[in-house]
Amino acid sequence: MTSNTLRVAVVGGSIAGCTAAVALRRQGHAVRVFERSPGGLVGRGAGIIAPEPVIEAMQGRDLLDADLPGFRAERLVNSARADDGGRLGRSPWAAPVAIRLLRWQDLYASLRRRLPDADIEYGRPVTDARHVGDGREVELAVDGSPAGRFDLVVFADGYRSLGRGLMFPGARLEYTGIAGLRGLLPERYLTDTAPLEGALHRVRYPEGHFVFYLVPGEGGAMAPGERVVNWGVYLRVPAAELDDLLTDDAGERGFGSVPFGAVPRDRVERLRRFLAPHLPPYFADIALSGHNSHALQAMFTMTLPGYRRGRMCLAGDAGMIAPPFTGSGVFKGMTNAVALADALAATDDTDAALAGWDREQTATGLSQLRLGERLADALIWHIPDFAAMSEADMVDWWERASKFPEAVWGGGDRPA
Ligand SMILES: Cc1cc2nc3c(=O)[nH]c(=O)nc-3n(C[C@H](O)[C@H](O)[C@H](O)COP(=O)(O)OP(=O)(O)OC[C@H]3O[C@@H](n4cnc5c(N)ncnc54)[C@H](O)[C@@H]3O)c2cc1C
Repeated sequence: MTSNTLRVAVVGGSIAGCTAAVALRRQGHAVRVFERSPGGLVGRGAGIIAPEPVIEAMQGRDLLDADLPGFRAERLVNSARADDGGRLGRSPWAAPVAIRLLRWQDLYASLRRRLPDADIEYGRPVTDARHVGDGREVELAVDGSPAGRFDLVVFADGYRSLGRGLMFPGARLEYTGIAGLRGLLPERYLTDTAPLEGALHRVRYPEGHFVFYLVPGEGGAMAPGERVVNWGVYLRVPAAELDDLLTDDAGERGFGSVPFGAVPRDRVERLRRFLAPHLPPYFADIALSGHNSHALQAMFTMTLPGYRRGRMCLAGDAGMIAPPFTGSGVFKGMTNAVALADALAATDDTDAALAGWDREQTATGLSQLRLGERLADALIWHIPDFAAMSEADMVDWWERASKFPEAVWGGGDRPA
C-alpha cells in the first residue's frame, strides 16, 4: 500500500459516493463527502438487478453486509403472450443467469453504515471546482463559498453531474427514445408467487418488454407474504412527448422522472389500456392491479472521452451512461470507486495511478455503451416475437444480440 495520504473530496453521498469514500478512507486517505440533500438519502422503494459476482466481490471486501437482503435468481425466463400459451404465456427459453434481486435502500444503507457520520456533510451542494497552483490541487466551492483545497475530487454526483460539465463542457445527455414505467405491488395482493420464485421474467410485447421480479419488502423483509413484486415496462416515447410524460400530478415537469406516487392517475390508466392486451394473464394481473404504485423515468445515455481531468474524477452516473439493459447500472459506480482506491494504493505516483484508472474506466464505459445499444436494438427496437420462436432460434438470436448473459451477468452454461 502507498504511504501517500491524499485529501479527497467526494461530491455526492449516494451509491458511488459512499463506495468511493469508504474505499479511499480504508486506504488511509482523508475523505470529506459533500451531499446536496439535507439529510440521509431516502430510498424510492424500487428494486435493482445485480450481477451475483459483483455482490460477492463487494461482500468479500466488506463493502456490503454478508446478509444483505435480496434474492438469488438463476433463470431469466423469456416469454410472450400466445393464444395457446396459458396464463404464463409461451416461453421458448429460460436463460441460465446468476443475479441478485435487491432494493436500492438496503444497498445504500449497507454502504452508508460503513462511513463515519463525521466524514459526510449534508445540505452542502458543491457549486464549483477548479484546478489551482501547479494543477495538483482542486479548490472547491460549496453553496457558493470556498470550502478548501483537495488533492483529488471524485464527482459522484449523479446523471446530471456538475463535475462532468466542468471537466467535459461539451458533454450532453442524449435521450434514447425509451422511457420506463415502474410498478411496485406488495406480495400480499398476489394469490400465487410460484412463477416468480428464483426467476427474473422478461415478457415481450410488440414495442419492447416488461420485467417482473420479487424484491425484499419494508425494512428488508424477506419472508413470503412480506415481499414486493417489482415490475417495469420499457416504452417507446418520442422526445416531443416527454413533456407530457414527465409532468407529475401537481403539474410540475420533472427533468427525467416522476417519482413513485406522483404519476397522474389518467396517465397510468392510458398506459394500462395500451399495455393490457399484450400481457399473459398472470403478468396482466400483477401489472393491472389497483394496489400498484408507479413511477416514470426517461432513459438517457452519456458518452465521454474520459473519466478524469487532472485531479478531478467521475464515478457512477456522473460518468458514462449506457442504455439500461447491461446489468451494470447501480454497480458501475461501485466498481469505478473500488478500482480508483485500488489504483491509488498500487503506487505513490498519484497522476500515473489516475491515468491508468482513467484508461480502464473509459474502455469499460465505452464497451458498456456499445453493449447497451446492441441490447436496446434487440430488446426494444427490433424485438422478435418470442412466442413464435423455438428454443434454438432464441438461443441463436441471443448469441448474436450480445455476449449476455454469461459475460455480463455471470451465468452458467448455455443449454446444449
Ligand atoms: C435517493 C435516491 C434513491 C434512489 N433509488 C433508486 C431505486 O430505488 N432504484 C434504482 O434503480 N435506482 C435508484 N436511484 C438511482 C441510483 O442510485 C443511480 O441510478 C445509480 O446508483 C448511480 O448512483 P450514483 O451514486 O452514481 O448517483 P445517484 O444515486 O444519482 O447519486 C448522486 C448524488 O449526488 C448528489 N449531488 C448531486 N449534485 C450534487 C452537488 N452539486 N453537490 C453535492 N451533492 C450532489 C445527489 O443528491 C445524490 O445523492 C436512487 C438515487 C437516489 C439519489
